[in-house]
Amino acid sequence: MTATYTYLTDDHQRLRDQAQEFGRQVIAPHVPRMEAGGTHTDRELPRLMAELSWCGVIIGTEYGGMGLDHLSKTILISEASYFSGAAGGILQASLIPTAAILYLGSEEQKQLWLPQIAKGLWTTIAVTEPDSGSHVLGMDGTARRKGKHWIINARKCFIGNSGIAGLHLVVVRTGRPGDPRSLSAFLVEADWDGIEVSQPDLVGMHGFTCGNVRLRNVRVPATHLLGEVGDGLAAAYTASVVCGRPNLAATALGLHQRIMAETLTFLGTRRRKLGKRHRETRKLSANPVVKYRLADMKSRLMTAERLLYDAVHLLDQGVTCDAELVNAKLVNNQAAGASLRDASSLHGGYAARADHPITRLMRDIQLVGAPAGPDDIQRLRLSEKALGADRMQWSEDFIRRTRRSSAV
Ligand SMILES: Cc1cc2nc3c(=O)[nH]c(=O)nc-3n(C[C@H](O)[C@H](O)[C@H](O)COP(=O)(O)OP(=O)(O)OC[C@H]3O[C@@H](n4cnc5c(N)ncnc54)[C@H](O)[C@@H]3O)c2cc1C
Repeated sequence: MTATYTYLTDDHQRLRDQAQEFGRQVIAPHVPRMEAGGTHTDRELPRLMAELSWCGVIIGTEYGGMGLDHLSKTILISEASYFSGAAGGILQASLIPTAAILYLGSEEQKQLWLPQIAKGLWTTIAVTEPDSGSHVLGMDGTARRKGKHWIINARKCFIGNSGIAGLHLVVVRTGRPGDPRSLSAFLVEADWDGIEVSQPDLVGMHGFTCGNVRLRNVRVPATHLLGEVGDGLAAAYTASVVCGRPNLAATALGLHQRIMAETLTFLGTRRRKLGKRHRETRKLSANPVVKYRLADMKSRLMTAERLLYDAVHLLDQGVTCDAELVNAKLVNNQAAGASLRDASSLHGGYAARADHPITRLMRDIQLVGAPAGPDDIQRLRLSEKALGADRMQWSEDFIRRTRRSSAV
């Protein structure tokens, strides 16, 4: 944490202390093994995080979860990401569909799935397709009703946690193209016939999987429809705006904090020789130009963290905050990228060494930009806000529905 917040409670602070302890003692020792494994599905780290019930952080205690707020979730994701981008990636990706179940799930669905998720059933949200990407309504995947089942055919790509998930929240077309209510959301169990998962190589976050999920004639019982027919866009957008944006902002924040920490360590230990006879040395951090760069990094970090915490706090207070959540994602991604460029410059030749910690952060940060919408999509949303466009406020609807169920 880089600043003081009047709304952070002792419970938040205790949670942060526990997360940092877990990060130091448990997550950090796994990193060299996960890095050496390249793109792969790590099963050990998710198991250990599940033991702490982190995947149930926003699930109410009545469903076996931790019953905590979105600020607590933000703290857990950013602390996990500080120690390992993959750990943060795994945690945040599963919490997005969890929010959609809290938002749209029937009482029976909540009672069936939420206790399992809280105990370590990892989940995905499968929206993106190769030919539609950011344009969610343009997707081709379909579900057709056949008696008491739906038959799903779809090609989903870039699906976070595809390697470890026991449950996919799949959004596909059930109506005419162009109609905002033409999409529906389904809870699809990962071991059902017709599901094939493959994992393309990723540049970073080794241990986290973000792969293709192919669904061929998958028979889904009608009871696994989430919400009503036509609620698919609401499931995708709410999950993305209310949970995805702050989750990815928290991932960027944790990586950003680590970029700062690695840079301070480097500058505080690397010494340069001085004077004609090179008898004196001084730390690189004593150089005024280096200090300016450090000041810029610190300033960005403080701004990015405050924007995220304030946005998530608004959500916890039941205040409509779509624009604030969008801005938190944009600013955190941009700020972490800018600080990484400064850090890379300050590390000199060491920024080119594959075994240096800063280069792992360079690889990991590349996986934060696109999920929950690339920066240009956030800009689009903010320009609509500036121009006064009358858009659905997903946070308002999420607050209304989840408050009624008293789960968050
Ligand atoms: C690590 C990672 C994890 C992910 N996790 C998930 C997941 O769990 N579930 C899931 O469903 N998806 C996931 N995604 C996919 C992610 O949501 C998409 O990559 C994202 O929506 C962008 O889609 P695209 O990559 O097809 O890019 P495109 O939509 O093709 O966009 C490419 C670029 O074109 C420009 N552009 C496109 N449309 C517009 C527009 N309307 N206005 C302005 N500019 C535009 C932007 O510059 C944009 O960056 C993940 C992606 C990554 C990399």
